Amino acid sequence: MGLLILLGVLGLLVFWAAAYSGLLWRTRKLSSAHKAVLAKYAISYQRAHAADRQRMERIVATFVHDKEWVGAGIEVAEEMKVMISACAAQLLKGHPDLVLAHFERFIVHPDSYRDHLSGRMHQGEVRPRTGTIVISWDDFVHGYAHSADAHNVGLHEFAHALWFENNNGIGEEGFLSQHFLQQWNALATAEIARIKAGAPSFFRDYAGVNDAEFFAVAVEYFFERPLEFREAMADLYALLCSLLKQDPAAVWVMN
Ligand SMILES: [Zn+2]
Repeated sequence: MGLLILLGVLGLLVFWAAAYSGLLWRTRKLSSAHKAVLAKYAISYQRAHAADRQRMERIVATFVHDKEWVGAGIEVAEEMKVMISACAAQLLKGHPDLVLAHFERFIVHPDSYRDHLSGRMHQGEVRPRTGTIVISWDDFVHGYAHSADAHNVGLHEFAHALWFENNNGIGEEGFLSQHFLQQWNALATAEIARIKAGAPSFFRDYAGVNDAEFFAVAVEYFFERPLEFREAMADLYALLCSLLKQDPAAVWVMN
């Protein structure tokens, strides 16, 4: 009897340790209601192969269950959590074990909000210092409602988080191939200089602000206008395919 209790206590300790270290996330499952939201509304999930769907479900399950969701003036409904997590999964599905561990808290505003420090209106932002991603739900939905204009605030902010996580994340950094990243940085630096000099670019001008914005804007074009991106800037497009381990243009043609 004493031995059984001891084994029980030990089992509980192992469970706690595993949960604490994040090992249990692999066993998390999405409910059928969560999956129904993905199937009905998440374009990237609808277009994905069966294997990719499973990867995306794992990522969405982790985000929905493990991130802290904070509503700023609204209640964050389960559907909102699923859709924002699906956006992350769209970006991360080539790196299915990646969970952006540094970013533990998501704050959702009903629509664009004024930043109390800068006084400017925001649609979303990434706050690495506090591990927070902030998103305007109205602008998030708008990003997917207009899915071919290369403006998608969800993908933009998650691209920032990915960029930060690769450079400074806790335990997850260095997942982007250094080999491809060096080539990317060389081409990006040249293109940023062209944009700053006023030369015409395939990307909107905002990509020229700095290397982080360049990456985030490129990600928006990558998912929303992949065929034109590949046509206009084949080398950069191929590098982004290698970095993110996926090719949206291939999926686009197939469907
Ligand atoms: Zn940005």
